[in-house]
Amino acid sequence: MKKMIITCAVSGAETTKKHNPALPVTPEEIAVSTYEAYLAGASIVHLHVRDKNGNPTQDIEVFKKAIELIRQKCDIVIEVTTGGAVGMTPEERLQPVRLSPDMASLDCGTVNFGDEYIVNTLPIMREFAIEMEKYKVRPTLECFDLSHIYASHVLIKEGILKPPFHYGFVLNVPGGVPYSSENLNIFVSRLPLGSHFTVIGIGGRASLMAHFGAIDLGGFLRVGFEDNIYYSKGVLAKNNAELVERAVRISKEAGLEIAKPQDVRKLLKLKEG
Ligand code: ZN
Repeated sequence: MKKMIITCAVSGAETTKKHNPALPVTPEEIAVSTYEAYLAGASIVHLHVRDKNGNPTQDIEVFKKAIELIRQKCDIVIEVTTGGAVGMTPEERLQPVRLSPDMASLDCGTVNFGDEYIVNTLPIMREFAIEMEKYKVRPTLECFDLSHIYASHVLIKEGILKPPFHYGFVLNVPGGVPYSSENLNIFVSRLPLGSHFTVIGIGGRASLMAHFGAIDLGGFLRVGFEDNIYYSKGVLAKNNAELVERAVRISKEAGLEIAKPQDVRKLLKLKEG
């Protein structure tokens, strides 16, 4: 049986300290929160960074600083975002890939994001995939919609995306596909054979329900303040680690072993060192 890979998305682009005062914002805070998540059992960190004013940025120098600080503490697999934040240009979003991190998110289509939207055309996806291949970065193919999975098939047929494929299903974004086991089932059924997938439920209830759905269908889990700031209804999570700890507990109850970073590196064939 596969080991359970837990990704922690420690900050994201949208959440602020007003939503949850424990949100890590500076590179130093992000590194500490990542280390706590790692100690709790996370093997991948999904990384966004902020500028001095706390606004989302894709500035390569800020990513570099955060990655250096994380690397001083642990060997957690580092996945940078290329989704960035609403309104950023593709060139802006792509910057941190040039630091050659272990992994990067690759959004597989255009999607509503509340009242805003994120644009990802096939040419943008190709550009991102080619750049990731150049820097030996394993993409997480983020799909917010069924059509996004089909868009990934196009790039696979073109030979631009290479196995092993790792998908991230982002469910319950306002204006997108809600989380339900039925919807998750359909997404999983359209994956290329042998693909791996992580389930991301946005908001407290969807995030927790996604734990059970993912475990049931052989997928992996993502938790963290990017997706959900609550531990339970109306109760803020104390920190990212608390959410990781629960994911570990549920996985173990289901009879799963928790993956270490080296397990992820092997399974997803990440580049050495
Ligand atoms: Zn993200």
